[in-house]
Amino acid sequence: MSTQGRPREAAARTSGTGSWSFPLNKRSMTLSDPPHAASSGAVRDDLEEARRAQLIEVTIDSLAEVGYVGTTLAQIARRAGVSAGLVAHYFGDKDGLLEAAFRTLSRSLARRVGARLALARTPRGRVQAVIDENLAPEEFDRRTGTAWLAFWGQVLHVAGLKRVQRAYQRRMLSNLRSDLRQIIPAAEAKSLAAMIAALIDGVWLRAALSEWQEADSKSAQAMLTAFVDSRLKDFAPPPASARAGARPAAASAGVIVVINPANGARLAELSEAGPDEVNAAVERARQAQRGWAARSGAERGRVLLRAGQMLRARNDALAELETRNTGKPIQETRAVDVLSGAECLEYYGGLAAGIAGEHLDLGAQAFGYTRREPLGVVAGIGAWNYPLQIACWKAAPALACGNAMIFKPSELTPLTAMQLAAVLREAGLPDGVFQVLQGRAATGQLLTRHPQIAKISLTGDVSTGKAVMADAAATLKQVTLELGGKSPLVIFNDAHLDNAVSGALLGNFYSAGEVCSNGTRVFVQREIRAAFLERLVARVAAMRVGDPLDPATQVGALISEEHMEKVLGLMARGREQGARLLTGGARATSGDLAAGYFVAPTVFDRCHDDMDIVRREIFGPVMSVLEFTDEDEVVERANATEYGLAAAVFTNDLTRAHRVIARLEAGTCWINHYNVTPIELPFGGVKRSGLGRENGRAAIEHYTQLKSVYVAMGDVDAPY
Ligand code: NAD
Repeated sequence: MSTQGRPREAAARTSGTGSWSFPLNKRSMTLSDPPHAASSGAVRDDLEEARRAQLIEVTIDSLAEVGYVGTTLAQIARRAGVSAGLVAHYFGDKDGLLEAAFRTLSRSLARRVGARLALARTPRGRVQAVIDENLAPEEFDRRTGTAWLAFWGQVLHVAGLKRVQRAYQRRMLSNLRSDLRQIIPAAEAKSLAAMIAALIDGVWLRAALSEWQEADSKSAQAMLTAFVDSRLKDFAPPPASARAGARPAAASAGVIVVINPANGARLAELSEAGPDEVNAAVERARQAQRGWAARSGAERGRVLLRAGQMLRARNDALAELETRNTGKPIQETRAVDVLSGAECLEYYGGLAAGIAGEHLDLGAQAFGYTRREPLGVVAGIGAWNYPLQIACWKAAPALACGNAMIFKPSELTPLTAMQLAAVLREAGLPDGVFQVLQGRAATGQLLTRHPQIAKISLTGDVSTGKAVMADAAATLKQVTLELGGKSPLVIFNDAHLDNAVSGALLGNFYSAGEVCSNGTRVFVQREIRAAFLERLVARVAAMRVGDPLDPATQVGALISEEHMEKVLGLMARGREQGARLLTGGARATSGDLAAGYFVAPTVFDRCHDDMDIVRREIFGPVMSVLEFTDEDEVVERANATEYGLAAAVFTNDLTRAHRVIARLEAGTCWINHYNVTPIELPFGGVKRSGLGRENGRAAIEHYTQLKSVYVAMGDVDAPY
């Protein structure tokens, strides 16, 4: 949440009790005594420090609002409600004040980088920490960003600012160089470090100058990550020289190395599809689609029903493959991942015969009808958290409607989609109607930009959704976007407490928290917070983290080292910003777990709405508990996010349940439950969480187009 929209109160107030406060911004604070009344040196020092900090915050506000020229000592003093002499007493002149302000910004960035570096386990992870923190959402926050712009504008003219800048540059370069030297030769490390540093500043500056239109934090981080990966690839040892027992080296261009995130074992190597493969697949799909669409709905439905039954029969083997590739516990994949895919195939298999337009009576001389026709060749692009389920959620409605689908699974979890293709073929689907292409973002882009593909259905991150939509615009493709979330779960005083705790557990720790609809902002009404936390923490502490193939394991591995570093980094940020850690909070490394990417289920209490762990999608086992007092307050706070995927309310008050759900800005809601997604109910988000719906009859509308037909029953009356 940016500070831009916050009401700014007038200057400092004094009250009868002698309190002295600056209601300035998110760091505003109240000093209980006026500074002159300080009785000891230590207290005076604290007060002086607090005053300096507040004046610096006012200066950053001012730089963001009126720029460098408009920021004067007199103006700062006015805003802060103190005399200009007092400001001069602390900082000397304007340059001194600005130097102090930029030192504060620079130190806060350095602290964040330091916290992330401390958590990173590998040199590559530390390089990523430098990239991610320098391009973190905080640096793209309008207030901070505009202040930094003022800094860059003045740095050549003010010696003090130059010193701040040199320190910032030296720190970044030395961090990057020392880590890169452990991966590549020293000379190359030096030049690559300089390139990364220049790109970080350059990408940030371009984004700032475009008023954050050109790139957001996530896309800037992705750009730098892709650059570093592509440069490091040049130094990767050839496969033949791979060290025995070592983790697979970074995949070379065109090759995807699939690993088991629970132990690093190599599962497969696949080729990435390029333009030739994509064009050939589209041509095959175009040929095959005509015949498939010409079949009756009942015929198409029978193929899907058979495929659903075959998935059920192969549940255990497919669940095991999914567990090896995703790190999710086998107790989950056996109960949910494969079976929910089967249910989806069966549901659309049953609906296929009923897909129809309507008849419209237009009087004695005419009637009209609509035909619900397939779109043609459509593409699905999947995320890594529910690989087989996502493939089924896209393939089943697309095929039921008579389309052909090309599906690109996530490059991290490409295996079970290939099994689905085999099952569909065995069930009688003609060749070419469902094809799987492997690849990373570049392959996804080839699909998104292909002129013969009529629609893209993506499950992924918000930034990917934006890129896909922009690419699809060139050929006016339809898009369905299932994106991220930061969903609220609201628990009122009258809720059944054990059910509410169960809902919060399901909504945060299933699949180690790698679920888009998770209710990670758990709002608990004040009177029951203590009792709720007591039961919650006892159950979380008893959760079993372990080998995903062990049926007793409840929390498996996260998908990759990079993702684990991100999750650990955000947990560190939570502590730094004042959240109270109740349980978890660290990587799980006992015994064999050290070889994988395991993180203990984590609960933070005393969270506030502007903390990073409360604002950003973590996609890991991290729950933030927030206290609220009344209904209006919690609705407003629950909606104060750009996301709108899911929401839930726990209460036994019937009318309140429906009233609150109606006010929550979310596409998918639960009353007294969490994360259940029956195939009959449409699933999807509002706001930045997506467009369109999957599941239910709603999906049929997204995989068909209407043709309206007017049928004349009489003569044509022309005035010519
Ligand atoms: P991601 O956006 O990084 O990748 C998703 C897919 O898009 C991958 O197959 C990737 O190769 C492809 N891709 C990436 N850039 C592309 C581009 N420019 N053009 C075309 N394709 C591109 O997401 P992820 O890391 O795989 O998954 C995690 C994200 O997915 C989280 O944000 C999560 O909330 C979201 N998610 C949403 C749902 C939902 O139903 N709403 C379900 C699961 C996951």
